Amino acid sequence: MFLFKTEQGLRHFLEQQAQVEIGFVPTMGALHQGHISLLKASQSKGCLSVASIFVNPTQFNDAADLEKYPRPIARDLQILYQSGCDVVFCPSESEIYKPGKADVPEVDLGALGKQLEATFRPGHFEGVMQVVKRLLMIVQPHFLFMGQKDLQQIAVIKKLIQTIDIPVNLVACPIVRAEDGLALSSRNERLDSDVRPMVPEIFQTLDFCRKHFESYSLSELKSMAREKLDFPEFRVEYIEFVNPNTMEMIEVADNEPDIVMVVAVWAKAIRLIDNMIMRGKI
Ligand code: AMP
Repeated sequence: MFLFKTEQGLRHFLEQQAQVEIGFVPTMGALHQGHISLLKASQSKGCLSVASIFVNPTQFNDAADLEKYPRPIARDLQILYQSGCDVVFCPSESEIYKPGKADVPEVDLGALGKQLEATFRPGHFEGVMQVVKRLLMIVQPHFLFMGQKDLQQIAVIKKLIQTIDIPVNLVACPIVRAEDGLALSSRNERLDSDVRPMVPEIFQTLDFCRKHFESYSLSELKSMAREKLDFPEFRVEYIEFVNPNTMEMIEVADNEPDIVMVVAVWAKAIRLIDNMIMRGKI
């Protein structure tokens, strides 16, 4: 496994590998099996696999969340090495945010930029687009692997790629969960031990709605979901049914081919998001 910290070092290496297709897995580290599933998807396409680890400050709307974000770099490198990753890119903040090289892309996100995660995390997607564009310009991959766990992020990056015409194929990979259903996330490590047993209820709720999707109206399902998540330790930010491409909210299921249920819940001080396909595909 090769490790690079600079754009120049990484570009020099990748330019010598001209015959192979490059698969790129951007991460913020604190790696878990969700991240590794993206790497495996890249490997299964026969790509030269490049993973990046960069905790991007511009996508955090909460200074405390940025400060407390876990950064177990030695462990991350070991996991990548053991998973057969070819190349790791660990740039510094000054390497990514070189003057004139990392402007926020001008992309009209429409509804994508106005609801759900965009409302509750102002500026988040501008920061995500900024860093992903910069990383794509550096790595120049054929394939970009991202997780459906961050459904709205996938829609935003699709829009970015289309709007500024970046020649890359975005591959959306399924959510990897713990045995009890909790969607894996780097923030799970920070869950209090007393709320940890309660958080699988988020998955249980999504799964309940999927099983009963055709028997109830969407507003009935939403009320039942709110009841199921009504713990004193939880604060639900949103529970919605959306079109996974536009993230527009769906009130009536008739005639909608693709419907995903999305939730955001604070479990004490930790914000968790999750989603599940109710009908159709992403
Ligand atoms: P992050 O390090 O949180 O920025 O995530 C890096 C990538 O891993 C993003 O594309 C995420 O959507 C993806 N990812 C995070 N958690 C999971 C999961 N549980 N299953 C699949 N992909 C995930």
